[in-house]
Amino acid sequence: MDIFTHFIIGASIGEIAPKDIKNRHVIGGAFALLPDITNLLLVHPYLGWLAGRTIPFAYAEDFISHPEILNHWTYHVWLFSHGLIFWLFFVLPFWSQHRAAPLAILAYLSHVLMDLPSHSGIYGTQPFYPFPLIFDGWFDAWLWGPLEIFGSVIFCSGIFLIIRQSRKYLKWESEIS
Ligand SMILES: [Zn+2]
Repeated sequence: MDIFTHFIIGASIGEIAPKDIKNRHVIGGAFALLPDITNLLLVHPYLGWLAGRTIPFAYAEDFISHPEILNHWTYHVWLFSHGLIFWLFFVLPFWSQHRAAPLAILAYLSHVLMDLPSHSGIYGTQPFYPFPLIFDGWFDAWLWGPLEIFGSVIFCSGIFLIIRQSRKYLKWESEIS
């Protein structure tokens, strides 16, 4: 998925979280973006350089013209950060470390789950990385242009508003006074 959709889904999880967690929407949004840090800092700059971009930051089509990125360590770091094994061993153990930790951990998971259907073919995610089992998704959100991203943002903002509306009636114990 695109980063905007990830952020809104994370913020929606923040909306579900207890209201006494400060900045819960930002925490949800930020942790829903976190797996793609590896993309931003490693894969895109390296691939951009490989593809000869003036500003070393890859375009989506560079992935298609340079499939050798699949074997590069930067791409493997990305796969690792998008795997359930990474989540299970390096993210989930923090569950009871902080009041906001469950929110952050679930937001991170939302990213991994959303990327499963939205990456297909050889660029499918590998949910059990380092085991090389590729999940062949249904579409390729990483090839989306502004119009598709806009549509996805509108759709997910609708979900956010529905959740927000339901939160008037659905409350955590700590919110009932
Ligand atoms: Zn991702």
